Amino acid sequence: MSGKSSQAASLVKNALAEDGLILVLTGAGISAESGIPTFRGPEGYWTIGSRNYSPMELATRTAFDSMPEHVWSWYLNRRAFCHAASPNPAHAALVELEQALGDRFLLITQNVDGLHLRAGNSSSRTFQIHGCLDLIRCSEECSSAVYPVPEELGTTWEEGRELTAAELRLLRCPKCKALARPHVLWFDEYYDEARFRFESSLRAADKAAAFLVIGTSGATSLPLQIGERVAKRRTSMIVVNPEPNPFSALATQVPRSVFLEGKAGEYVPALVETVCGDRVGKHRTN
Ligand code: NAD
Repeated sequence: MSGKSSQAASLVKNALAEDGLILVLTGAGISAESGIPTFRGPEGYWTIGSRNYSPMELATRTAFDSMPEHVWSWYLNRRAFCHAASPNPAHAALVELEQALGDRFLLITQNVDGLHLRAGNSSSRTFQIHGCLDLIRCSEECSSAVYPVPEELGTTWEEGRELTAAELRLLRCPKCKALARPHVLWFDEYYDEARFRFESSLRAADKAAAFLVIGTSGATSLPLQIGERVAKRRTSMIVVNPEPNPFSALATQVPRSVFLEGKAGEYVPALVETVCGDRVGKHRTN
């Protein structure tokens, strides 16, 4: 283990000796090693007619209102891509961390790929603050209830495939029959508590004894607010990312914090192994 990795493990162990949460924030970077592209590369582009759309254009209410069937087709293809992927060792390590720490652990994820839950993190200790590709809800907001994507649509969807009229009819709100939408937070929308755990996430930031940030660029507002709150309280931060970003900048300002410059798979499993020690070893042999 490198000097910085040992320092990170000591920071988490010291935090465990105090009260408070080991708060983990993840972004698209933790799923990059499962083969799911982040939004920083060109992979997310989608062609409709003669035009290429970026994820930032398609993941909007405006796009959904003007071409719902195209936006649905893009989401069903993204969902299929995520279903074809598997959780990686960094996801597995966070499951071990939760099993070792119980209620001292809380995971806030920006990922909509569902890989944390598929790996085995519990839904009660995982806040999916940008939603999940496996869920739909009413586009007219008749309630904040969410429902699974209808089974009849399957879990595969090749790129460019459009929905048939019959498939579109399946995507209806079970309650009021209005068109259903993907349960994700779009770039032109706001966080709330009922659907995206906004206040609960900020409260968690105030209860953190250590803050582990993995694979996020810091381009979205709630994660940044959480980071700033944690930094203001001088809570130890451990930031894992191949590139410097606003979180690594915060980590350099806060005492007892460290920036682990590299991939999630390089640092997270080893960190968890060191932090959990015997408890992790015991769990693995069971
Ligand atoms: P982002 O695409 O903005 O940034 C990804 C970050 O991951 C970058 O900082 C990059 O340096 C880092 N990274 C790349 N490879 C890494 C690795 N192997 N290990 C660790 N870090 C790595 O992603 P974001 O910050 O999560 O935010 C963008 C938005 O896009 C979010 O709203 C998110 O919901 C959505 N998104 C989700 C997924 C997913 O669910 N897997 C994928 C793409 C985008």
